[in-house]
Amino acid sequence: AVVRARAAIDRHARMVADFPSPGISFKDLTPVLADADGLAAVVTALAESCAGADLIAGVDARGFLLGGAIARELGVGVVAVRKGGKLPPPVIGLDYDLEYGSARLEVPAAGLDLAGRSIAVVDDVLATGGTLVAAARLLQQAQAHVHGLAVIMELAELDGRGTLSAQLGTRVPVSG
Ligand code: AMP
Repeated sequence: AVVRARAAIDRHARMVADFPSPGISFKDLTPVLADADGLAAVVTALAESCAGADLIAGVDARGFLLGGAIARELGVGVVAVRKGGKLPPPVIGLDYDLEYGSARLEVPAAGLDLAGRSIAVVDDVLATGGTLVAAARLLQQAQAHVHGLAVIMELAELDGRGTLSAQLGTRVPVSG
C-alpha cells in the first residue's frame, strides 16, 4: 500500500509555489484524494499505521477526509479535531502559537468520552509539527492515550518529526 500511495502522490500531487505566503511551497494533495486509486492507496497505507487504535482523530480540515475513511477501514469510529469556535459547547480546547499569531483546536467534551481511548491522529501534511503537537496535547488533556500520529507527507526540511519527538516524547510514534 505504501508503494502504491507513493506512486499516486508522485503522479497526482501538485506543488504550488508561494502559497499561502511567499517562500512557502504548498503541497496540494487534493488531486491524490480525488483519484480513486490514490485515495484507496493512501487510506490503506495510513490505516496500517493506525491499526490498534480504537478511535481515529482527523485534524481540521483535510484530516477529516482521511479520518473517516481510515476509521471505516479499521472498523472504529472517528472524531474531528476542529479549529476553535466550530463545535457546540461543551468543548475541550487548546491554544497554541503559530509562526505569526496563535490558533486553537477543540474536541467535544460531551456526547462521547475520550478518556482512556487509544486515538490515532491523522492529517495530510506534516510541516513544522505545531498542529500535530497541539492536537496530541489536546487529546492528552482529554485523558486519551495518543496511539500515534500519521500523515500522507512530511516536509523533511522542516524536521516536524524532530519537533514531535522533542515535544511529545518518543512514546508517540509518527508515520508518514
Ligand atoms: P504544521 O503545524 O506547520 O505542521 O502545519 C501543518 C498543517 O498545515 C497541516 O494541516 C497541513 O495541511 C498544513 N500545511 C502546512 N504547510 C504546508 C505545506 N507546505 N503544504 C501543504 N500543507 C501545509
